[in-house]
Amino acid sequence: MSRHFIGKLIIVALALIVLVGGGSELYAHRHFKETIVKGPGVTRVAKLSDYFAPLKGTINDTNVFILEGSKPGGTVLVLGGSHPNESSGIVAAVLLVENAKVDAGKLIVIPHINRSGSTGTQPSSGYPLYFHIKTDWGERTFQMGDRVTNPLDQWPDPDVYVHYPSGQLLSYVEIRNVNRTWPGRANGTLTEKTSYAAMRLIEQEKVDIVIDLHEAELLYPVTNCIVAPTKDITIATMACINISSEFFDIHTEPSPQNYHGLTHREIADHSSAYPFLLEASGPFLDQPTGPKTESLIIDGKDDFLLIAGKRGLLFTDYDESGKPMKMRVGRHLTTVQALCSEWSSENPDREIVIESPGYEDLMENDVGHYLLNPAAVDPDSVILE
Ligand SMILES: [Zn+2]
Repeated sequence: MSRHFIGKLIIVALALIVLVGGGSELYAHRHFKETIVKGPGVTRVAKLSDYFAPLKGTINDTNVFILEGSKPGGTVLVLGGSHPNESSGIVAAVLLVENAKVDAGKLIVIPHINRSGSTGTQPSSGYPLYFHIKTDWGERTFQMGDRVTNPLDQWPDPDVYVHYPSGQLLSYVEIRNVNRTWPGRANGTLTEKTSYAAMRLIEQEKVDIVIDLHEAELLYPVTNCIVAPTKDITIATMACINISSEFFDIHTEPSPQNYHGLTHREIADHSSAYPFLLEASGPFLDQPTGPKTESLIIDGKDDFLLIAGKRGLLFTDYDESGKPMKMRVGRHLTTVQALCSEWSSENPDREIVIESPGYEDLMENDVGHYLLNPAAVDPDSVILE
């Protein structure tokens, strides 16, 4: 055997070691199943394909948790994971499934509206594959995701994405962003079919309000706010006034009239429901930060953002205490409560009354206190996402 041939064999062997070593972790992440426990308020678990059959068998045929109250009333739909790298939206949705009790009306929760996006992380961004939350009984593991649908599920991207039905032109990658494909298209891409299916759910379940949980950069002006279209600006503003006087700063941002594809625009224009998009400040999403670690997801502390804050470059307050997961999740849960409360006082015949932990509970007890132990419940109550 020549020396050249042996050299080639060594290169091939090294390449295989890298491929198998790195690839097996990505394969395991792609096929990881998050565990969710059906809490005491869950009365039914449906699939998104129950509302639009062509979604059946796809990765985005996600779980739909339904919590019905003993008294009739209105219906609220809460979406987590529109952007699966915005972790607190998913965790807040899971906390609702495991803890909320509905007195009047109906709460529908989809923790992973774009399940595909949770099966891969952002290329070249150095994301951790998972994050772990310590609980009273151990820990729970969550998948870290990307902002958009995994290209393994929808590919190739066009040069320019033409939004349906507005015809608006957007950057190519936005065709895999579920918060740019509303109101969806029955014969479109997987991402368009996903928002189309959710629109059918909104119609069939007679949803009154939709609350879409997100995180935003501290360097981005639309942060720590409720984005609302004109028709629900009064409810959003009243909720902000009440929350700001009691708990934390939050304000209302108007949904741009001509920016298409987003929940707060298209659900308002294509259904009778009132959509609200919540943004909590998430330091992990900012660009000038240190390494993208699990602790940045959980604690939200970063030295570069501290410097940026001292120079007045941030659109929110920021100090050594960071923006931890408990704060972001608590903000979301209290804002959901406040919006339901405002909705109910304006629409007493479609009242929605939900009990769930809120901001103060989360700040005192932390997130893990509210995550149930899958090993301690009836196996029928454990749902794999
Ligand atoms: Zn987002």
